[in-house]
Amino acid sequence: IGGADMPVVVSMLNSYSGWAAAATGFMLSNDLLIVTGALVGSSGAILSYIMCRAMNRSFRNVLFGAFGQLDESGEMGEMGSIRSASYDEAGEILKNSRLVVIVPGYGMAVAQAQHAVRELAELIEHRGGRVRFAIHPVAGRMPGHMNVLLAEANVPYDHLFDLDEINSEFAACDVALVLGANDVTNPAAKSDPGSPIYGMPILNVADAEQVIVVKRGMATGFAGIENELFYLDKTSMLFGDAKSVLAQVVSEVKGL
Ligand code: NDP
Repeated sequence: IGGADMPVVVSMLNSYSGWAAAATGFMLSNDLLIVTGALVGSSGAILSYIMCRAMNRSFRNVLFGAFGQLDESGEMGEMGSIRSASYDEAGEILKNSRLVVIVPGYGMAVAQAQHAVRELAELIEHRGGRVRFAIHPVAGRMPGHMNVLLAEANVPYDHLFDLDEINSEFAACDVALVLGANDVTNPAAKSDPGSPIYGMPILNVADAEQVIVVKRGMATGFAGIENELFYLDKTSMLFGDAKSVLAQVVSEVKGL
């Protein structure tokens, strides 16, 4: 079981513990145990189902599919070269954008960059731009992970858009800012039937006019596969921890 399939497995085991408690409740004729057991059992089962569905994978595949073991072909050479941007370049692009779509992912959570991204979004809006947050159902490591972090940073709820709502907007946006997200933006999910994420719905980041990707290096995401988005001509990589990179970009946008 791949490291980040663990949330599904934990939630399934949690569900089983609930059903076991409910069964014990029947044996002991204890109504409270039946009710609490059924609640734990059903909530765990629903959570597991939501996670599997959002990844477009069956439960069986999560348990036995060994996600992430496919990285042996060494295709990286064929991907081409990457373009790395400077903070002032990124700041300049964001300053002059009318519509920016921010795609948060697991890296934003690790870096705790949600407050910095809210500050950046506010700055862009004060300059007359519009900012939208694109929320993939399995971005991060649990359902609702991004929503919780952005809510904690007081990002207005009406700035958050689900995959289905936002996907058509990428084609109209000036910049897609990918913040510590990887698999949820990987075009291989649509184009490569051999990919372990083939069939998973993704955010159409590659449709944006320009793409800025913030991550520490060229490491893969949870699925352990390369992402051709990072090698597109329109993509600029901004390497570093998401929080410190955003702090620098915020200073650039402020013109400090
Ligand atoms: P990914 O795991 O695909 O990618 C996260 C990226 O963040 C990495 O490539 C990493 O690159 C970067 N990163 C890590 N730390 C930092 C940091 N401090 N600053 C900046 N970047 C950082 O995340 P996604 O959110 O795109 O996708 C989630 C994945 O988890 C999907 O494959 C999904 O199927 C899986 N999953 C999700 C569940 C859920 O319910 N949400 C449950 C189970 C699995 P680098 O190291 O180079 O910085």
